Amino acid sequence: MVHTEETLARLTAIPELTVLTHAPLSRYTRFALGGPADVYAETASVEAFIAALTVARASGQNYVVIGGGTNLIVSDDGFRGIVLRFIAQRILAAGNRVVADGGAVLQDLIDFTVDRGLQGLETLAGIPGSVGAAIYGNAGAYGHSISERVRTVRFYDGAGVRVFDNEACEFHYRESVFKRHKDWIIFSAELVMDVINAAADAAALRKTADDIVKVRNEKFPVTMKCAGSIFKNLLVAQLPDAVAERVPERVVREGKVPAAYFLEEVGAKGMTRGDIHVATYHANLLYNAGAGTAADLRALIADLKAQVTEKFGITLEEEVQYVGFHDGVRP
Ligand SMILES: Cc1cc2nc3c(=O)[nH]c(=O)nc-3n(C[C@H](O)[C@H](O)[C@H](O)COP(=O)(O)OP(=O)(O)OC[C@H]3O[C@@H](n4cnc5c(N)ncnc54)[C@H](O)[C@@H]3O)c2cc1C
Repeated sequence: MVHTEETLARLTAIPELTVLTHAPLSRYTRFALGGPADVYAETASVEAFIAALTVARASGQNYVVIGGGTNLIVSDDGFRGIVLRFIAQRILAAGNRVVADGGAVLQDLIDFTVDRGLQGLETLAGIPGSVGAAIYGNAGAYGHSISERVRTVRFYDGAGVRVFDNEACEFHYRESVFKRHKDWIIFSAELVMDVINAAADAAALRKTADDIVKVRNEKFPVTMKCAGSIFKNLLVAQLPDAVAERVPERVVREGKVPAAYFLEEVGAKGMTRGDIHVATYHANLLYNAGAGTAADLRALIADLKAQVTEKFGITLEEEVQYVGFHDGVRP
């Protein structure tokens, strides 16, 4: 283990890397929860990021990569170690191919494609966060996921920069190979789009994206301190028969049962713990009403999971990612 001061000196010596100490992670998460990171470092340079990662690994300290912080629950104690963020935001197009940096804002990518009459990402409009994290978690909405458009992903595996094609990314519902290799960092992705030529169709594309954003903003007001859905929906095919039979057909969408169905059945809507609330209109939406803590959030999540297990015999799985918990929860 290299001493923290020495690690800090090595990080601050890296050109194009911004380094902060005792950075309050609540500022970097949409939940507005979480204590300080010992060290927070961000850069738009691939070389600087790799150099920072190399220092972090050599130090023996914990490190974690974050994006826009819209899908994170950070411990009230913060993170003992180094938080890294890749913030390069270039988006380029050539014909129907688009290349986006991992740090680009997903909505910027969607606007970029929609403005150019490139179809295929519009149903993801309004999903907050970065392109890198969207690929990591195979983000999606309205029956489509980003994986449908990904041709290749360029990432760093700790030893070198590699490029995976779509198949190698092992995309599934809210899953990818990157979720199983948390030390792999996505630098950029190439996406393949459908080209729309008729002006009327391009206008329709813009309307689709804008309408979706409008609906989403009603469900998730932009100031709401939340992570969208806490739990993943459940594939009907993976449910035990006895549970699948209990689920009314009307709630099944695209082969999935919304986690909200099970949560509603245990009376989750409107539940509170401290200043953490379950929305009264959406059982899978938990938010920080202002003075919430990560401890209360986790306790409420654990309580909801236990109630669903007791009533249905199934275990809901979090879509959100945990940072800084040292009690068996994934870092
Ligand atoms: C209001 C609201 C609505 C939402 N609706 C949806 C929705 O409809 N569909 C959906 O799929 N999600 C939804 N989400 C969840 C969230 O927007 C996505 O998970 C998003 O992709 C997270 O992006 P982020 O940049 O904020 O990542 P973060 O929350 O910062 O990080 C998420 C994970 O990505 C990893 N990561 C970040 N950057 C990289 C990188 N460059 N390389 C490798 N790993 C990386 C992190 O290590 C972390 O584990 C919603 C969230 C909110 C707040």
